[in-house]
Amino acid sequence: MGSQEVSTVDWQGKHVTVAGLGVSGIPAARALHERGALVTVVNDGDDERARAQAAELEALGITVRLGDGATLPPSTELIVTAPGWQPDKPLFLAAAEAGVDIWGDVELAWRLRGDNGRKAAPWLAVTGTNGKTTTVRMLASILEAAGLRTAAVGNIGVSLLDAVLGDQEYDVLAVELSSYQLHWAPSLRAHSAAVLNLAPDHLDWHGSMEAYAADKGRVYEGNTVACVYNAADPATEDLVREADVEEGCRAIGFTLGAPGPSQLGVVDGILVDRAFVKNRQKQAQELAEVSDVNPPAPHNIANALAAAALARAFGVEPAAVRDGLRNFRPDAHRIEHVADIDGVAYVDDSKATNTHATEASLAAYDSIVWIAGGLAKGATFDELVTGAAKRLRGVVLMGADRALIHEALTRHAPEVPVVDLDRTDTGAMSEAVEHAARLARPGDTVLLAPACASMDMFTNYNKRGEAFADAVRARAETSA
Ligand code: ADP
Repeated sequence: MGSQEVSTVDWQGKHVTVAGLGVSGIPAARALHERGALVTVVNDGDDERARAQAAELEALGITVRLGDGATLPPSTELIVTAPGWQPDKPLFLAAAEAGVDIWGDVELAWRLRGDNGRKAAPWLAVTGTNGKTTTVRMLASILEAAGLRTAAVGNIGVSLLDAVLGDQEYDVLAVELSSYQLHWAPSLRAHSAAVLNLAPDHLDWHGSMEAYAADKGRVYEGNTVACVYNAADPATEDLVREADVEEGCRAIGFTLGAPGPSQLGVVDGILVDRAFVKNRQKQAQELAEVSDVNPPAPHNIANALAAAALARAFGVEPAAVRDGLRNFRPDAHRIEHVADIDGVAYVDDSKATNTHATEASLAAYDSIVWIAGGLAKGATFDELVTGAAKRLRGVVLMGADRALIHEALTRHAPEVPVVDLDRTDTGAMSEAVEHAARLARPGDTVLLAPACASMDMFTNYNKRGEAFADAVRARAETSA
């Protein structure tokens, strides 16, 4: 089958088991039921919410089995699973034994696209350990600036199934894919795709770094126009080399340095394209200025180049790349500038929940008072601290695993003053900001980039970022 063709499945009377009542399971069950499939939803939990959701589906004629997500319903011909369900679950082992296929929500959306009579828009896909959401939103902004009907969808929090089956018709979709979603999407064939970077993450789910990388690499399978890789991260280029792509599909690199042929890069503060130009041996096309990227931190310029590469692969003109980047506003809590107080900038990167992300945000500033800590999720901090040591004015630590960061600082940056907050209540953030302000000098940046998850002290990283911003604003008011 040609990669961009739409496949049709005869759903009538097909026994499909949907694993997981949730954001992806409910729309999947409904869509399959509407198409004539005999749907059984299985769910581990059996709480009040699950019962209410089950009642709604049962009213439609869908079978729901609560409190047992492990047993394979007899006569199952296909499983459609929520992306987070781990591959070694008994349900999946039983399915493998019975020769039953397993699809995730993304696979289902890919297979159902176009079957409601609307145009099946091609997908430009983005994955990677960090920067996915930002890049996909930049990409959508560029595609919009080019006058295309598009949306940022997928792991970003907008259901692909809704986008694919909804009333709105699209010319192209900017799709964020997680490693879980890719694991369960065997036949997905994007127009073009980018892997932004690869660092250990979610290894408990995938089982090993190799398995994690292999799942990320699936995004390149069957690409038709471009496989976009990060020239600074050879593991991403390896994945391109290993991928089975359509005839004529090109490998396109992005780099923060001067680009070689078939790359996008940066020359004298200008983002340039040496890939999608007539004579790439001799010519380069100006796309935008570094200052058009918001914020112009190095890792974010890399995100912008990846987004630009995908847009250019789709045929977008240079002016639209520039306009799209200028129009783009980052999501909250991602290197978000909160305030300047007494010559010190306060920046909220609460979304930096792992060391790889934090490394990128620490690299963006020259002199930093760093606020960090939380749940380490098995991470080690030696490399992170060694890389940033010279730029640290001081450090304020909080949260359950702060001792791990403190020990790394003692080993690699013993001269840097550290305040260790021995409290994990929510109010600790105000105290952290007070200490940081005391340590900072004019010209410094106070940076919340925790390198840890937030759940020991906050509901999520949003709440952590808000607590920081509230504390900073309260301080700005008293110093005004
Ligand atoms: P994701 O969707 O992959 O989680 P986001 O765009 O939401 O990525 O960014 C998450 C965090 O990762 C940001 O707060 C920033 O600290 C960091 N980050 C963003 N882009 C990159 C990148 N290209 N390389 C490394 N870290 C990055």
